[in-house]
Amino acid sequence: MTVYRLPAADLKGEGMTSQRARDRLAANLKEGGIQDPRVIDVIRNTPRHHFIDQALHSRAYENTALPIGHGQTISQPWVVARMTEALIEFGLPQKVLEIGTGSGYQAAVLAALVPQVFTVERIEELLRQARRRFRQLGLTNLRSRYDDGKLGWPDEAPFDAIILTAAGDTIPSRILDQLSPTGVLVAPVGSPSRQTLIRMRGDGQGDFTQEELGAVSFVPLLGGIG
Ligand code: SAH
Repeated sequence: MTVYRLPAADLKGEGMTSQRARDRLAANLKEGGIQDPRVIDVIRNTPRHHFIDQALHSRAYENTALPIGHGQTISQPWVVARMTEALIEFGLPQKVLEIGTGSGYQAAVLAALVPQVFTVERIEELLRQARRRFRQLGLTNLRSRYDDGKLGWPDEAPFDAIILTAAGDTIPSRILDQLSPTGVLVAPVGSPSRQTLIRMRGDGQGDFTQEELGAVSFVPLLGGIG
């Protein structure tokens, strides 16, 4: 388990960012059907207020998505929990690729669970802020890249697990090409108004099975760098 390097006061937070608010969020996730205790513990221990603007700190541990600027959002904690749980259900992956760093929260949650996280973001300013947060938290098993995530991170492929945190109408083929033959991919797929969370799992022989995990709402997966 990652031990964050922030000063104790910043880590714990005060008032609405207190331990009590986090415990309430953890209880909320369980009630919402999240079952993996590792995921619930990591979400309880990850300082979500560190990933959003100070003006929103009082809402950091609410189970809602929040704006992070540039028209983007930090995902709802339940969605982060569900996607993380779905990604690690068959065993902890060694090497995970995330497309859509955003605030950096989902990447930090993953970095507390798996040995290596790679994350790609197309908005430079968001990536700059996320990197500062990773540094302040002392997350050394996480690398990030400013690029069009539709291209994946070819130099580091293959990945045991890939997570997309922005929705396209399909999974870009170059990303699929970077999934190991026994890998797991979790992504929202669909139109801007109607998306389904899907999970693909490789059988090791070149075939992938696909399951639907429910309806979700994500910002769009865009092309190019912003
Ligand atoms: N995982 C993030 C969620 C951020 S919202 C978090 O925990 O905060 C989705 C992010 O995907 C946005 O920051 C958006 O800029 C980014 N994004 C959209 N299309 C992308 C692409 N093609 N490549 C990389 N990032 C992309």
